Amino acid sequence: MTRQEPMSLPLWNELGESLEGKELEELQLAKLKSLLVRVYEKSPYYRDKFDKAGVNPHNFTSLEQYLDYPFFTKNEERESQARSLEEDGHPLGKHITCDISAVNRMSASSGTTGVPSFQGHTANDRKIHNENYARMFARLGLKPGDRGLFAGVISMWVAGLPTLDGMLSYGINTIPLGALVGSLKVAEMARLTRPRLIIGTPSFLRHVLRKARAETDIDLTSVGIEKILVYGEPGGSLPEVISELSKGFGGAQVYDLMGGTGCMNPIFISCEAEDGLHFIAPDHAYIEMRDPATGKMIPIEDGAEGEFVYTGFDRECSPLVRFCDGDLMHVKTAPCSCGRPGWRIKVVGRVDDMMLVKGVNVYPTAIQTCVLKHKPKLTGNIRILKYSDGPVVEPPLELWAECAGKPSKTEQDEIKARLESEIKRVLRFSANVTLFAEDEMEMEYGATNKAKLIKKMY
Ligand SMILES: [Zn+2]
Repeated sequence: MTRQEPMSLPLWNELGESLEGKELEELQLAKLKSLLVRVYEKSPYYRDKFDKAGVNPHNFTSLEQYLDYPFFTKNEERESQARSLEEDGHPLGKHITCDISAVNRMSASSGTTGVPSFQGHTANDRKIHNENYARMFARLGLKPGDRGLFAGVISMWVAGLPTLDGMLSYGINTIPLGALVGSLKVAEMARLTRPRLIIGTPSFLRHVLRKARAETDIDLTSVGIEKILVYGEPGGSLPEVISELSKGFGGAQVYDLMGGTGCMNPIFISCEAEDGLHFIAPDHAYIEMRDPATGKMIPIEDGAEGEFVYTGFDRECSPLVRFCDGDLMHVKTAPCSCGRPGWRIKVVGRVDDMMLVKGVNVYPTAIQTCVLKHKPKLTGNIRILKYSDGPVVEPPLELWAECAGKPSKTEQDEIKARLESEIKRVLRFSANVTLFAEDEMEMEYGATNKAKLIKKMY
């Protein structure tokens, strides 16, 4: 991998963010060894798991050997946490490797099964989180003292309080509003506090724009917002969503953030080139890629696509060694026009959301992209109706889409025909589209305000 000349904006940690080649491999080897030995010595759970797999961290001498270490799946994490709650009186898992009294912050992710999984953080875990946030804020061109309005969900979400912690630590003049106050309150507070930065999920911030326009005289194009940081949903990298958010907030630059479970998020952030999210923490996170169908490992190289496997090097509380979280990514290693270091990713989708239509892999984002081409007639909000568990979907795929305003029956028939033919042309299967007038389609949001694109009918 090569990289361009230094960028105009200084990096927060030039050394950590630019590591590559032999220097990086040496650091990865040393950090992995230290992690593996630590979890083996401190956790009977890991010792048992490694013994069963026939690996001993004391003999770990090359990165190739890491391929022999067992994966950690989401189910395993849930089971480990259910057991520790039962046996040890806390939900942080049998794979905890620190004293429980060293944990001073907890978060939870809702998970697809409805049973939350918990993350605990020690003081050092928080320090590394905050370092990664600082790298991100510096890349956004933010300075200590800049005002930032937080409009994500605060309650328990791993991107809630930890993000606020990162903002405070960096010195952002933090406005900790949260999303649960509702979209109109967010618009009102943006008007009253004039932040330079606003943070939230793409669907919620779009909702804020629409509600403010429809129900208030607040002009969000002129409240001074220059940076929009979105996360939690794939929308932050869809050109139509970026353009709607940017226009709605008066030409502000949209940045998209991604984490990796167990890796002290954030570890990926997009840039002004809007051509993928840079990996900003090679010294904190080890990333591997595998084929979700065969389980075969895939090298991280230009054009590669597969499921990411995450290992956070330094996590003290409950480290996850080779965690498979179901994120499907596309890798780009060519230098970015912004000049900053770090190979880039594009989010393809989630393994859980993958559908198999006529033998072809289809992700909800691909369908959403077709729908977004019909803006401004359609808002981009969609629901894909699934009638059975498992990835196979028999065409025609049942799709709901929301119209902007209340178009006439004739207009609706025309939009429906166009969208169905677009899906047929681009994705090569038939869809049956049902249109709804604006705000009349039933939306569903997860605990963290993420819009659910798939509606389960079974
Ligand atoms: Zn870039």
